[in-house]
Amino acid sequence: MLKKNDILDAQITAMSSDGNGIAKIDGFVVFVPCSAVGDVLRLRIVKVQKNYCFGKIEEILTPAAQRIAPSCPVYQKCGGCSFRHITYEQELCHKAQFVADTLSRIGGLDLPLDPIVPSPLEEGYRNKAQYPIRIEDGEVVAGFFAKRSHRVIPCASCSLQPKFFTDIVEYTQTFAKSCRIPIYNEETGRGLLRHLYIRYGEVSGQVMVCLVVNGNSLPHSEEYIKGLLEVCPSVASVVLNVNKRQDNVILGEKCITLYGSDTIEDTLCGVSFHLSPLSFYQVNRQAAQKLYELAADMAGLSGSELLVDLYCGAGTIGLSMASRVRELIGVEIIPDAVENARENAKNCGIENARFLCADAGEAAKTLAQEGLHPDVIVVDPPRKGCSVDVLEAIQTMSPKKLVMISCNCASLARDCKALDAMGYKAIRAVPVDLFPRTTHVETVVLLSKLKEAEHHIEVDLNLDEMDLTSAESKATYGEIQDYVKEHTGLQVSHLYIAQVKRKNGIIERVNYNKSKSENARQPKCPPEKEKAITEALKHFQMI
Ligand code: SAH
Repeated sequence: MLKKNDILDAQITAMSSDGNGIAKIDGFVVFVPCSAVGDVLRLRIVKVQKNYCFGKIEEILTPAAQRIAPSCPVYQKCGGCSFRHITYEQELCHKAQFVADTLSRIGGLDLPLDPIVPSPLEEGYRNKAQYPIRIEDGEVVAGFFAKRSHRVIPCASCSLQPKFFTDIVEYTQTFAKSCRIPIYNEETGRGLLRHLYIRYGEVSGQVMVCLVVNGNSLPHSEEYIKGLLEVCPSVASVVLNVNKRQDNVILGEKCITLYGSDTIEDTLCGVSFHLSPLSFYQVNRQAAQKLYELAADMAGLSGSELLVDLYCGAGTIGLSMASRVRELIGVEIIPDAVENARENAKNCGIENARFLCADAGEAAKTLAQEGLHPDVIVVDPPRKGCSVDVLEAIQTMSPKKLVMISCNCASLARDCKALDAMGYKAIRAVPVDLFPRTTHVETVVLLSKLKEAEHHIEVDLNLDEMDLTSAESKATYGEIQDYVKEHTGLQVSHLYIAQVKRKNGIIERVNYNKSKSENARQPKCPPEKEKAITEALKHFQMI
């Protein structure tokens, strides 16, 4: 039995979905932060639970091949990144595996994943940052929360954000100090300044600076703005967000514009968007374009469709598809975001779109009761996934195609399973990495309605696009993985299995393992794993 402070040597053999390496010691699972698969480590046991424990690296005895030196001085302390110590290629591999495992384990889906789409930028990709401001050791600090804690790790300069964010953070810290702005204290609920929130329109170059305060005004605000414009002349909007709540929610509902415009502008998929501080907007614009293009591609739009975009935010997904549909209806609960969506449609001359400000479940129910029959529904819910109302209303509205986008693969898998029972079959799934160096990843899934009597897929797909694997193969991806694991101890991904199948002439969906230019970095199955998968294919008499 392992005890706290035990020192042991072990090899990391797998990676958990929250970015901890996994070692097995006498069958006991040990999670080790900042470790890499293949590392041989000397570990100190730091926390023991009933079925697992946590270890800390005392010494790296043999580093894994994909290890790299983390480029951030606060990497070990800050709760933001989890994959700075391994190559980006390896990170993509882990993320593709998490998505495949989750869709299969929770969703019961046995479909091959398309290759993960990498982010065009690995660093400096975020257009938004929210820095808590607190007093730590008597000093005003802005930075990020430590893992599972509300201690602020000072970090003005984070490489996930554009470099100029640092100037704004440092300036705001100095201003707060020199003007003696009372800093918020989470325990007492007193003090004024809580968060600094910066948003940047990559295409317009416009910057929004939003100060979240536990009050209705900011002392010396004119002085703050004057100095801010000297530090960053691209600031187009300075907003005060009023948040007097005593919980973890960062933003309050009320915004007061102190300088410039209420919104800033950005362009996504060729459509220009105005964004207020409260509107959701993807933090990685370049990767989001890839995600939305993929969603449009899956929707297979011809111009005649009625498209419903549920959880639409400022309208980004639907509006980027509006020129390819007959009519668009968006639904979103935050009034500011709906207002942005309506203005965005107007500014872009889009006349076939309307937006409803409502709970997605209630609105979907009403639309279904009105007898609305959309051809395609796109859903992009928050982390907790779709409400039961939404799923039931989708069934009633009965679209031919459903495109589901989610940053939480587990709730996505759960919703896909529920939809499966309602007659919707997942036919394509693609992970898209919008969040390099963190454990987060987006996934987009295309579901198609089965005809009740015949139970065949209604969507027109040409043969090349069809995934013939499940019809032709004698073993599922899961069974092949299990066989390989049992006989060689190796873990193999769906991607690797697909690559080996294709090499052996088993027809896969055409775009599955072909290297498109954006996927050129897709990991290739190593020879050892190829051999193991080939053996499994032989065992199942597939080759
Ligand atoms: N599709 C948008 C936004 C996705 S984020 C985009 O890609 O930019 C999820 C959105 O769901 C947020 O805008 C959030 O405000 C909204 N939302 C959360 N709960 C909701 C609910 N119950 N009904 C409708 N919208 C909701």
